[in-house]
Amino acid sequence: MPERWTEWRARRIQNPVSRLRYLRRQGRVRATRRVLPWALAIIGASFVIVPSNVSAPAMESSASGRSGDPAAPPAVWLVEESRGRELYSNGLQVEAQGAVANQPRVESARGIVFHTSESQLAEWSEGTNQRLRLLGRGLLDYVRGEKSYHYLIDRFGQAHRVVTESDIAFHAGHSVWADSDEAYVGLNARFLGVVFESQSRPGDDAPEMTPAQRQTGRLLVEMLRSKYGIAASNCVTHAQVSVNPRNHRVGWHTDWAGGFPFEELGLSANYAIPVPAVARFGFSYDPAFFAATGARMWEGIVAAEGLLREESARRGLTVAGLRQELRRRYHELAADREKEKSP
Ligand SMILES: [Zn+2]
Repeated sequence: MPERWTEWRARRIQNPVSRLRYLRRQGRVRATRRVLPWALAIIGASFVIVPSNVSAPAMESSASGRSGDPAAPPAVWLVEESRGRELYSNGLQVEAQGAVANQPRVESARGIVFHTSESQLAEWSEGTNQRLRLLGRGLLDYVRGEKSYHYLIDRFGQAHRVVTESDIAFHAGHSVWADSDEAYVGLNARFLGVVFESQSRPGDDAPEMTPAQRQTGRLLVEMLRSKYGIAASNCVTHAQVSVNPRNHRVGWHTDWAGGFPFEELGLSANYAIPVPAVARFGFSYDPAFFAATGARMWEGIVAAEGLLREESARRGLTVAGLRQELRRRYHELAADREKEKSP
C-alpha cells in the first residue's frame, strides 16, 4: 500500500485508538511508535488512570467502530414483514415484492455506491402525478429486468428492492475504491448499489432529489450500514469509483460527480477522500470529466494527485513512472477478480 495513502488515512482518523490500530494493521511500526505516547496521553486524559502496562491489543479490543469511520450508525433492525413490505426500526419501509435474484455474492458487503437513474423525469407537481407514477413504475420494471441495483428510491421516496441484497447487482462496472483494509477492484462483488430516480446535471448543479428521496436515502443508508457494518467512508458515488481500464481514465460513468448530499444522508463529506483510482492505481482524467464534475469532486482528485507526487518524490520515481507501476497493479488485481468469477 503506498505510504502516502496510509499516512493520509491515518491523519483523518480522529479517535487515537482507531488511528493506532490502523497504523499497526498497515505494519507502520515506526509510525506506531511515534503515535503511541500521544495516543496514551489522550486516553489518559479521558479516563484519568491508564495502567502503565496497558498493551496495544487490549486497547484495540476496546476500540469501537471501523477506523476512519466518523460516526457509527444507530442499530436498525427488521420489525415486521408483511405482504412484501418490510418495516425497519428507524422507520424505513422497503417494498420487497418482486425483487429479483442473481448470482450470490460470496463476500460480505463492504460499501455502497450511489447512482442516478438517468431516466426520463416528469415535472414535479400534482398535475403530473399519474405520469410521475408511471415513469417510476417503468423504471422499477426495467432495473429489475437488468438486475442493475439493489435498491431504487423513486421520486416519492419509496424504497424498492431490485436485486436481493445477498446477490450481486450489475451496477458499478469497471470500478475501484479503497479503505484502510484493502483496495477493491470491480465493486459489484463487494458494494451494494442504490439508485435514485434522478438525472445528472453538469458541474455543480446537483441532480434533482426530492425531500422524500433524501429522507429515505438516509434511512436506507442507516439500515445497510447497521446490518453490514459498513464504514461511512465506503459510501461513495459512481463518479468517484468508475474507471475506464482501456485509457486509464477515471469517470467512465459520471453520475453524482458533484452535489451528492453526503452529510444529509448521515455520512462524512466523502468527496474529499483522495480518489483511489488516481492515488492507488495511477489513473488520470480528461477534459470531459472536468466538464462533468463539480468542485467538490475535484477535492478528491486534487488530493489524490498530491499523494501521487509525494509518493513519487519519496521513491525517487517520476510521476509517470509511478503511474505505470500502479496501473500494472490495477490490471493484476482486475485479472484476479476475473479469475474468481470463472472458477
Ligand atoms: Zn451509475
